[in-house]
Amino acid sequence: MKINVLSEELASQIAAGEVVERPASVVKELLENAIDAGATRVTIRIEDAGRSLIEVSDDGAGIPSDELPLAIARHATSKINSAEDLFRIRTLGFRGEALSSIGSVSRMMIVSRNADQPVGARIVVEGGRMVSTELIGSVVGTIVQVRDLFYNTPARLKFLKRDTTEKQQIDNLVTRYALAYANKAIHLEEDGKAVLRTSGNDEHRDVLAQLYGVELAGQLLEVVFEEDGIRIDGFISPISINRSNRKDITFFVNGRWVQDAALMSALLKAYQSYLMIGRYPLSVLFIELPPEDVDVNVHPAKAEVRFRQPDEIFTAVQRAVRRALMAYSPVPQLSPAPWRSQAWSASPVVDGGWSSGAAVFPGEPIQPEQSDGESPPATTEHAQFAGGIPLLRLIGQIGATYLVAEGPDGLYLIDQHAAHERVLFEKMQRLKGNIPSQALLEPLLIQMPPQSAKIIQENLRVLREIGFDLDEFGSNSFRLSAIPALFAQRDPQAAIRSVVEDFEEDETPLQGMIEEKLIARICKRMAIKGGSVLSTEEQHALLRDLEACSSPRTCPHGRPTMIHLSVDLLERQFGRRGARSN
Ligand code: ADP
Ligand code: MG
Repeated sequence: MKINVLSEELASQIAAGEVVERPASVVKELLENAIDAGATRVTIRIEDAGRSLIEVSDDGAGIPSDELPLAIARHATSKINSAEDLFRIRTLGFRGEALSSIGSVSRMMIVSRNADQPVGARIVVEGGRMVSTELIGSVVGTIVQVRDLFYNTPARLKFLKRDTTEKQQIDNLVTRYALAYANKAIHLEEDGKAVLRTSGNDEHRDVLAQLYGVELAGQLLEVVFEEDGIRIDGFISPISINRSNRKDITFFVNGRWVQDAALMSALLKAYQSYLMIGRYPLSVLFIELPPEDVDVNVHPAKAEVRFRQPDEIFTAVQRAVRRALMAYSPVPQLSPAPWRSQAWSASPVVDGGWSSGAAVFPGEPIQPEQSDGESPPATTEHAQFAGGIPLLRLIGQIGATYLVAEGPDGLYLIDQHAAHERVLFEKMQRLKGNIPSQALLEPLLIQMPPQSAKIIQENLRVLREIGFDLDEFGSNSFRLSAIPALFAQRDPQAAIRSVVEDFEEDETPLQGMIEEKLIARICKRMAIKGGSVLSTEEQHALLRDLEACSSPRTCPHGRPTMIHLSVDLLERQFGRRGARSN
């Protein structure tokens, strides 16, 4: 093929690919434009996950009617003028690419009126071609309407994920900006339904309360830090509040949401030794530094930045977070006391509760559940195998985390958390379809960020089937009135939250798998933790319950519940065997 100069249209479609990857990128660009225009209220309307409509309207400065055609031209911006400006950027936009990119892959209409002008103007663009422009009456501000995104780039269209995923991306983005710009009233509506509505009263905690509920928001620690021209504000969770993934960790640098591995590791370092491996804090940090110290022109989507003095920023983040953590006395952890009181409380334990009667009389042999009247296995020297592991003689607990037991063939170390997880999981599975629930004394209201609320909504039916009496209650909140009796007196809120915590964004589990996954997640969260001192009765009960499991050797997530040191191994280790030296 010989060398051709690409048509203007094709060139702009290629450029658009870098800026507009999916509906959420359109929302991001339009929202940033509204913020740059000094808007105090921004309303975002989405239909069909942004496929058919994305509309962003603001009460900002507006675009003068004679400049409207320029606004949609490539590399046309009012935000910078010269190369030096690139290093003192105070606006979110500066590349002059967004409107032209969006316009080249959709049908776009902009209505805008500048405060100094008596009327507004409207411009319509289709696939990068200007279709019409006219003066019309309108209020001060700007409305950008984007319809049929990617209608002329079918390949792009095919890359879009299912609606839930695309919506999650949008929710994620808008909630983060709502947090960062608490001084703006930001309103997100999806298919006619309000998903998020902030008041713009500049109270970050109010926005956090909307996302995570008043109680959790109230427990977040405030970060206030300033050193050597670096300012860090925001909120971090105390160590008692943590997550199984990093999704609730957000960084803004000079008002820009950035994903930065180094900032992330600085934050995690600050929490190191406070959190268990695999647990992450919840945090939102706003970092402000002189614009000349940060290069924002790294990527067309502007999601990455480069720092002139990275080490200083990272040290500052670590210090800011450490200080905030130290300044507050730790909030009491849930374990171990609450667990003990619940497992052994005299509450009417429904069958399947793991504090079975047997536990109260540790000496007595325990009948595996549903053994259909068979005689209980004898605990003799030649112990029978109870469902995969031999009957074990409890020796005790070490490190408040492991049980030590003797079997006919050696020593067993049992991880109490993994073991309990397995026990709960099998009990739930066995009772499936008929899991007894226990009403809460008072129904509990659980508030969630929109993206999490959606996951719960989608799984309401399954959750009800496994014993949670849960209803939608206003936007993004739920009323929990009963939980599986198996978890009586555990933190009911934590059970529900565990469902959304581990949910991966693009997860599309097969319908049949969802229930099992949910159950596994919840059981993991509800299981006794390592570090909880157990009474002898509790240790016995756990061991008996584990023996009754059909796959006692691993937790539902596949981690081992026990380590076996066989007599053979012990003998070899002690040099009693092999060398014929005894
Ligand atoms: P950039 O934001 O990088 O300047 P855009 O393509 O996003 O580029 O926008 C081009 C120009 O259109 C902006 O520089 C600004 O002058 C104007 N503009 C876009 N959106 C708005 C808005 N919501 N309110 C006022 N002006 C806007
Ligand atoms: Mg812009």
